[in-house]
Amino acid sequence: MDIKIDITDDRLFADVAPVVDRDKFSKEIGRIRTVVGISTLLPQDKYNQFAGDEKFLEKEVEKSRKRLYLPIVFRRVIEKAALCGAISDGDYLPAYLDSTLDTFDTEGKMLDETYFIVLSPGVRNEDVLKAYWEYADKIGNEKGVPEYEYINPVWKVDKKKPSIKKYREWYLAYRSRKPFKDIADGETEACPIKEPHDIGRNKPKGCTCFNESTIRKGVETYKSLVEKAPAF
Ligand SMILES: [Zn+2]
Repeated sequence: MDIKIDITDDRLFADVAPVVDRDKFSKEIGRIRTVVGISTLLPQDKYNQFAGDEKFLEKEVEKSRKRLYLPIVFRRVIEKAALCGAISDGDYLPAYLDSTLDTFDTEGKMLDETYFIVLSPGVRNEDVLKAYWEYADKIGNEKGVPEYEYINPVWKVDKKKPSIKKYREWYLAYRSRKPFKDIADGETEACPIKEPHDIGRNKPKGCTCFNESTIRKGVETYKSLVEKAPAF
């Protein structure tokens, strides 16, 4: 039986077509149809309903996929070929976004969703990026869905400012009750420039001294990151 392939992208078409035309593939498709009890092929809208209802279909598709030695990205190709006799755009993606759902709490109120991108041997950078952008849209890092704010990047790297590593060092010293003046003195002692010099705006090149006020601000900033409450 010939499978109809409506895949626009030639590269994706090339991944799918030769596989679908193998005798072994046809045999497996026939087997699934018999096991699942399909006598006439389903149109797309009926397929969605059927595939959603039939739990054992998934098991049979997996069985065939393994017999055919195909990567996981071919699951939907097998399923669509068996049920509809046709494969269209979106049924085969060399990289696709998937997710698992758990919760942070025992009542199941606070959702903990893990997203992952499934890769196939034929994957290319652009396929992964496409899946990544779908992820970015979904979790709302760009759109500000509050549930996911906890994974927002909290630190912007700014070369003019002391690094977050420095902030943490100062914060740990402050937490162990070291006075700000002592922390500042420590930085001055470690400075490679030994002659007396300005440590403000006009500090010489290579100077690693920091004002007490800079250290204070750094500790405050880092402290607020440590104490940052979850977004929900
Ligand atoms: Zn210095």
